[in-house]
Amino acid sequence: MTRFADLHLHTYHSDGTRSPREVVDLARDRGLEIIAISDHDNIAAYFEIKQHADERGVTLIPATELSCAYRGVDVHILAYAFDPLNERIEPALRRFREVRHRRGYEIVERLNALGYAISADRVDQLAAGGAMGRPHVARALVERGYVSSVNEAFDRFLGPGKPGYVEKARFSIEEALSLIHGAHGVLSIAHPSHYPDKEQTVIDLLDTGIDAVEVFHPDVPDDDRERFTNIAKFRGRFVTGGSDDHGAAKTVETIGTIRVPEALIETIVSRTLEHLG
Ligand code: AMP
Ligand code: ZN
Ligand code: FE
Ligand code: FE
Repeated sequence: MTRFADLHLHTYHSDGTRSPREVVDLARDRGLEIIAISDHDNIAAYFEIKQHADERGVTLIPATELSCAYRGVDVHILAYAFDPLNERIEPALRRFREVRHRRGYEIVERLNALGYAISADRVDQLAAGGAMGRPHVARALVERGYVSSVNEAFDRFLGPGKPGYVEKARFSIEEALSLIHGAHGVLSIAHPSHYPDKEQTVIDLLDTGIDAVEVFHPDVPDDDRERFTNIAKFRGRFVTGGSDDHGAAKTVETIGTIRVPEALIETIVSRTLEHLG
C-alpha cells in the first residue's frame, strides 16, 4: 500500500492555530500516514506529539522551516529528518526565536506610536510561547478591529516597506546547510514559486547544496511544478511537498489537499528511521 505524506504543516508553536495533536489526528483522518510539522524556528511539536503519532500509525518526520537570506531575498528552507537531539539544533533555533520575540515587540511599539493600541502582552499570548511572527501581530490588529483580516494587516502594516515592517535576522544558506547537514538532515526549497527570478533561484540554491524542491504546494502552479521537478531530477535531487497548513490562519482548508506518494520522499523517511534506530 502506498502511503501518502504532507511535509509542510504549522501549529501554535509557530504561526499556525492548531495544536500538534489536532494536526496529527486531522492528517490521519484524511489519509496521510507520513507528516512533518515544520514550525518556523521550532521543533517543540515533534517532542510533544511523537508518541501520539506512533500510536496513531503516523510516521512523524523531524522538521522546521528556516527563514534564510539569499541575495537580499527572504527564502524559506524546509529542514527534514535531522537528528532532533543534535546538540546544535535547539540553541540555533532558540536564538532565532529570541530575535523574533524582540522584533515582535518592536513592531508593536511602532504600531502603538502610530496610534494603533495593540498590546505586546496580547501578541505574546497569541504566540503562546512559540516562534512569534507577524501573523500574531496581524491577529491582534484584527481583534482590535483595526483591520478586517490578517491579509489586510500584511497589506497595510506588516509587509515589506509598510509602517510596521521590521526586518528579522535570518539564516544564511551556508549556516542552514552546516546546521542541518551536520545533524544528518536534508533541506528543501519551500514554496519555490514565491521568489523573484524563481527558476534561476531554484537552480542556484540546488547548486549551493540544497537537496530538494517543494514542488507540491498550494502556491506552486502546474507549469512551475513540472519545470522545478525537471530541474531537480536533472541534478540528481528530489522533490517534496506539503500543504503549508496554518489552521484557521488561512481561509481555505488545506490539510489533505497535498498528498505526496512515499516513494518520492523515501530519502526523508529512511533518514528519519535511522535516527530512531
Ligand atoms: P514572519 O515569519 O514573522 O516574517 O512572518 C511571515 C509569515 O507570515 C509567513 O511564513 C506566512 O505564514 C505569513 N504571511 C506572509 N504574508 C502573509 C499574508 N499576506 N497574509 C497572511 N499571512 C502571511
Ligand atoms: Zn507561517
Ligand atoms: Fe514559508
Ligand atoms: Fe510554512
